[in-house]
Amino acid sequence: MKIAVLGESPEDEAAIKILVDGVLGYETQLVDLPPLRTRGWTVINLLPAIIKKLHYQTDAEALVVVWDSDDSPVHQSSHDEASGEGARCRLCQTRSVINLEKSRLRAVPGRSVIKTAVGLAVPAIEAWYRCGLDPHVSEATWIRKLQYGEAGIYTRKSLKNDVYGNDRPSSPIKTLYANQSASRLVRDLTLLEQLFPNGFGPFARDLRSWLS
Ligand SMILES: [Zn+2]
Repeated sequence: MKIAVLGESPEDEAAIKILVDGVLGYETQLVDLPPLRTRGWTVINLLPAIIKKLHYQTDAEALVVVWDSDDSPVHQSSHDEASGEGARCRLCQTRSVINLEKSRLRAVPGRSVIKTAVGLAVPAIEAWYRCGLDPHVSEATWIRKLQYGEAGIYTRKSLKNDVYGNDRPSSPIKTLYANQSASRLVRDLTLLEQLFPNGFGPFARDLRSWLS
């Protein structure tokens, strides 16, 4: 399957591709994204254009999107119920942009509508990279921090320090540790799914739905 991967950096996208292949159980082929001048959550505004471009001008069969949640609310399963969509939840916002854009696409002979999967790394993808290494790192811990402002809990900066050895890693260092982390995680994705049920869980379910 040919997929495009949109993450918060090219290094993360390479790691996300490893996770995708792990969930699907086979190796996908990467299709390049259109050139992007910026990365991060603001790219949500470019998502309709990205989907159009992939649909009309490439042979990509699927698009994978994974954002960091930063300080935004964590996705909850209650958002999945009718009219329960989380207005500030990045996962819900992304789904609604994708669904609207997909509904506007014209059929192209020989092409099906692009498949999509959306994940939310809480609060940043470095938390996924620390999964299984630091027992405190989980969505539940982060939700407590958001709700009660508990002090002493890790921050996005401390997660980066723990993963890369500093909070402003060079691209080669990011590539190395992102790749190592993803390769370790795919050996058994159960823990990632258990500890990150609302951001990684729906992502894995989206991916598995491609198999049916
Ligand atoms: Zn949500």
